[in-house]
Amino acid sequence: MAPTRHLMSKENFDKIAAVEKAIKEKYGEDTIANPRSNWDEQKEKEYLEQMKQLYSRDNKKRIHTEKVDVDGIKVSKKLLNRESLKNCPVCSAFPKSVKDDVSLIKYECCNKCFIQYVHGREDRWIQGWRPDET
Ligand SMILES: [Zn+2]
Repeated sequence: MAPTRHLMSKENFDKIAAVEKAIKEKYGEDTIANPRSNWDEQKEKEYLEQMKQLYSRDNKKRIHTEKVDVDGIKVSKKLLNRESLKNCPVCSAFPKSVKDDVSLIKYECCNKCFIQYVHGREDRWIQGWRPDET
């Protein structure tokens, strides 16, 4: 038997198939083929519990792994998506790249401003220094 591989593209189908396979192994072929014939409340409870665990485990994994790594800075995609709606407060540019998003989250400016004003002078920036408008 080939090992089960996790495929993102049809993951919902795979998850259900995996649960059905586990149930089949535990309760026998009939349970899947004709659930009502060999089904009771206890089995249904276990089935739902297994489903719940499978989904929550996968969701947790997804939240933890969905991080963007930019220059060694790990930022969750969820955070990026929310924060990336913000323009750069320094030059008003709309963030165009993940690097802009990361700079905005870390230093409240886009990557261009980061390179121009912050890089190598992080202390000054963190203390509140900002370039003049003019
Ligand atoms: Zn900027």
